[in-house]
Amino acid sequence: LSSKLPDIGVSIFSQMTLLAQETGAINLAQGFPDYDPPQELLAALARHATTPGHQQYAPMPGLLRLRAAIAAQVSRLHAGAPAPDPATEITITAGATEALFAVLAAVVRPGDEVVVFEPAYDLYGPAIRLQGGVPRYVRLPAPHFRPDWDAVRRVLTPRTRLVMVNTPHNPSGAVFDASDWAELARLLDGTDILVLSDEVYEHLVFDDAQHLSARQHPLLRERSFVLSSFGKTYHATGWKVGYCIAPPLLSAEVRRVHQFLTFAVSTPTQHALADALETDSTDTHARGLAAFYQAKRDQFRQLLADTGWELLPVPGGYFQLARYAAFSPAGDLAFAETLARDWGVAVVPVSAFYHDNFDEGLVRFCFAKEAATLTAATTRLRR
Ligand code: PMP
Ligand code: GLN
Repeated sequence: LSSKLPDIGVSIFSQMTLLAQETGAINLAQGFPDYDPPQELLAALARHATTPGHQQYAPMPGLLRLRAAIAAQVSRLHAGAPAPDPATEITITAGATEALFAVLAAVVRPGDEVVVFEPAYDLYGPAIRLQGGVPRYVRLPAPHFRPDWDAVRRVLTPRTRLVMVNTPHNPSGAVFDASDWAELARLLDGTDILVLSDEVYEHLVFDDAQHLSARQHPLLRERSFVLSSFGKTYHATGWKVGYCIAPPLLSAEVRRVHQFLTFAVSTPTQHALADALETDSTDTHARGLAAFYQAKRDQFRQLLADTGWELLPVPGGYFQLARYAAFSPAGDLAFAETLARDWGVAVVPVSAFYHDNFDEGLVRFCFAKEAATLTAATTRLRR
């Protein structure tokens, strides 16, 4: 069989989690919390998992009560944007992962070009290529990883179908501000280029900055697929529930794919999430996440202050990038292996986020961990 993705191996996140298990290293590699979702949410899932009548297929686009609760929350948080219509504009997916794949399958035809900022979440490039699309990569420069919009302008062609953005950004934590959205809107005005805005870390924006959604820009809203994930918002990456918000015509195309990709997402899990949203009409949970993660970021950075680790700025998300030049001249993959085997901490080498494995000597730590885990890991990292 000739592979459709001959250059793609096992995802770096699985590789590094396996390496952590083999070596006993503390796993700061794959992005997931080492704590559980809120107790009430776990109780709600237990309740719905044993409720007769909640065990069969959910409606294809998702439970209406969950979509309505998302619409209500989004209308409170996305200031200036009209509430999305739960019936026609919100689709529940098996994590943001499925939403990404469904959007790409829905809109990318063979030969279509898709603009991707690198470093990029590892599925973007391969998922585009599986549709016959051609990724056009634009590099984000360290240490701030902010887009150079002139460079974006230069890669746009009549074949450009879609621009993919991710704010807050994995792995750098960079956050779009109003000027970024305005620049993107200016570039796309008068074209039929669409936008996929991956906003799974939307609630994790620090230092009193605000998350701005593509939905909050009127010109972008009408051409954007906006994705989020309950995995990040509720510390429940294992639940695999996310969603896509897009105008009715775009949502209809996503649903054409979604109905054949998964058809529908786990019913009791959707009920539990709907309970959580419905009983939190002031968004206390979502609004509390910034302070919660900022404290973890600050603890982690403090514990590594005055060491050889050069810590890059972290405006959002739950990852810390660090330069390790003081310790080793090795490539980042080799150094990540040494870190797991000899130092006892697993990380992700940042070259994994580039299609050409561009390596500038950076590793990524996930700080979505208990204080004790961060203390134990940094004790090993302080040499
Ligand atoms: N996009 C980004 C930027 C992510 O970091 C992740 C999770 N690692 C996803 C999408 C996938 O989200 P989910 O776990 O909900 O499928
Ligand atoms: N999004 C997570 C990360 O960036 C991992 C997701 C996965 O393992 N596929 O680490």
